[in-house]
Amino acid sequence: MFKINENYLKLPGSYLFSTIGKKVQKFTEENPDKKIIRLGIGDVTLPLAPVVVKALHGAVDEMGVKETFKGYAPDLGYEFLRRTIVDNDYKARGADIAIDEIFISDGAKSDSGNIQEIFAVNNKITVCDPVYPVYIDSNAMAGRTGDYIPDKERWSNVIYMPCTKKTNFAPELPKETPDVIYLCYPNNPTGSTITKEELQKWVDYANKVGAVIIYDAAYEAYISEENVPHTIYECEGAKTCAIEIRSFSKNAGFTGTRLGFTVVPKELKCGEVSLNSLWARRHGTKFNGAPYITQVAGAAIYSAEGKKQIKEQIAYYMKNAEIIREGLKAAGYSISGGVNAPYIWMETPKKMSSWDFFDYLLTKANVVGTPGSGFGPSGEGYFRLTAFGTYENTLEAIERIKKL
Ligand SMILES: *Cc1c(COP(=O)(O)O)cnc(C)c1O
Repeated sequence: MFKINENYLKLPGSYLFSTIGKKVQKFTEENPDKKIIRLGIGDVTLPLAPVVVKALHGAVDEMGVKETFKGYAPDLGYEFLRRTIVDNDYKARGADIAIDEIFISDGAKSDSGNIQEIFAVNNKITVCDPVYPVYIDSNAMAGRTGDYIPDKERWSNVIYMPCTKKTNFAPELPKETPDVIYLCYPNNPTGSTITKEELQKWVDYANKVGAVIIYDAAYEAYISEENVPHTIYECEGAKTCAIEIRSFSKNAGFTGTRLGFTVVPKELKCGEVSLNSLWARRHGTKFNGAPYITQVAGAAIYSAEGKKQIKEQIAYYMKNAEIIREGLKAAGYSISGGVNAPYIWMETPKKMSSWDFFDYLLTKANVVGTPGSGFGPSGEGYFRLTAFGTYENTLEAIERIKKL
């Protein structure tokens, strides 16, 4: 009789977005005349930029002609895309990354979930709390996180780094030494970010204790301030301790088109073994490449016209972020984020729980956000609003919140 991977049974149900969906549906059924504004989900709403659409069409035409048809893509991704990434995202920032250190994939979710496979099961991970859930759940599935303790809402074998107002929404170096450190900057869900000096401390720490940093930079394109690193490889010594994960989803609207990449430097080693060769082996065995048409479309965002169009999309969302930020501040809320990230993280008023505030906002303002407690116990008492809505809806949502 076969047996299942029992680690899956340890996973607590992920009720966050389904609970939100059910609550919103019930409210809509009971109040059909009310117009709900959704500022909850982390998905983009603007359509693909014209350069992307044009590139997709062109690539589809190529696929339909014998002379230019493409079958399986190279394991690491097409060289034209990897070279473009190296030149624009790394060389231009003074980071010396080689093209065979870039692995093209179908997105940052897969990569951030799969990367744990190349580490030993008895490695100990550390994560920020609140956190993007993929880092923990993928390690739980692999049996690396111990047992889930429901009343603590935590796993027994994970080092949590609370990121609250008290820590200025930044993690502190953990007391217990971890093997794998997950960092996400600019951060989902808190919208916070990290300065180059602060990130350098993490790089130095990882090199000192022999830990590896998994650096999720899915929101890199939203960085607006100076002294915020666009890649961890701007830090000295990062190539011997860090893997960076990037995505085309939040900068170029590829959430439904699917494209991302991971950087694994060859200097990143465990003894004599290079993690680059392990990830290449894993990629070659379990992944058959992102579609050619998608890779062509991804490369298009790096053209002069592409950069301009992408910048306009990000500016559109960041205008929304400003409306939310300034509007909530004016209404007396304590908020953070929304400057280098499309997320605004607000404290619930009057010490309301995250879910009580969710219900309050839904019923009184007909605005949907995400309860902070859904991202980890330290998210309790906080609430996330996203800048991914339309300008008009964002304005109206904030006007309604101001009137409460
Ligand atoms: C959205 C998001 C991702 C997923 O990106 P895809 O490339 O669409 O898979 C990864 N990490 C974080 C923190 C995200 O918010």
